[in-house]
Amino acid sequence: MAKLIQGKPIAQTIRQEVASETANLKKNGIQPHLTVVLVGENPASQVYVRMKSKACNEAGIESETLILDSGITEEKLLNIIHELNQNPKVHGILVQLPLPDAIHEDRILEAILPSKDVDGFHPVNVGKLMTGMTDGFVPATPSGILELLMRSGYPPQGKHVVVVGRSNIVGKPAGMLLLRKGREGDATVTFCHSRTPDLASVTKRADILIAAIGRPRMITQDMVKPGVVVIDVGVNRVEDPSTEKGYRLEGDVDFDTVSQIAEAITPVPGGVGPMTIACLLQNTIKACKQLNRKES
Ligand code: NDP
Repeated sequence: MAKLIQGKPIAQTIRQEVASETANLKKNGIQPHLTVVLVGENPASQVYVRMKSKACNEAGIESETLILDSGITEEKLLNIIHELNQNPKVHGILVQLPLPDAIHEDRILEAILPSKDVDGFHPVNVGKLMTGMTDGFVPATPSGILELLMRSGYPPQGKHVVVVGRSNIVGKPAGMLLLRKGREGDATVTFCHSRTPDLASVTKRADILIAAIGRPRMITQDMVKPGVVVIDVGVNRVEDPSTEKGYRLEGDVDFDTVSQIAEAITPVPGGVGPMTIACLLQNTIKACKQLNRKES
């Protein structure tokens, strides 16, 4: 039976590390600050934003949420971003996605100052990740994947990592991160997607398999090799009338069968999920330190 890679305790350790860094910054008169911009009333987004704000407060990071009407114009939203860019008290800016259809997401994300882009979605930060520059921001979920691997004793160095999924938020940055030169990278990375023929023949070659697909239990036992380390990013709601909520959460990996032959595997929920907010806090502290270094 595979070892469980539990995200909660690892995320908790990171949150404590962030809290002690915040305390040190405060001793020097610096108060780390994250502003979250929430447009509209998407219930899932409201929950995420509340969780982020609570985590900030627990780590001593000041957080403010700007709640904006769903009918706001793109121009007004851009003006708000420009003001936040100029505000020296604000170290991190996060625009909660998705945005209403009338607003061009790309234009908004590109308006955020790269040095305050703690979500790591700005093309400058994407470019820094590609070129191996370490002063940029890596999106939180891929960072969380790397932290999980490193802190549970499965460094990617020299391993064949197969990433199923090529989104800009998870798949692509996760692969690029593990491809970087150095102790926390140096993996041989293969990307797969919906047009990959004979997916199983590729996933079977993985030493480390990262599933970021969005399809419940798609990766089955016959698609992996014994001893594989599996990071399941998927969070899928599957109808389940026997539960109070009427659904349960399932990963992209068929946990019951894959865990029988894997060396280690993340559970869903409780694997990658808790890491995302912890890594957002890390990014906020990084932004705060870098901005203060520039000013001093
Ligand atoms: P996207 O829908 O943006 O990307 C999914 C990727 O999976 C695409 O590249 C797609 O290929 C690929 N794919 C879809 N079907 C198949 C298939 N049959 N075979 C091979 N590849 C396939 O999703 P995200 O990357 O945003 O998210 C992926 C999962 O991770 C979701 O379940 C999401 O909820 C979860 N997630 C979890 C987070 C966490 O904190 N735990 C954070 C973010 C996401 P193609 O490009 O060809 O369409």
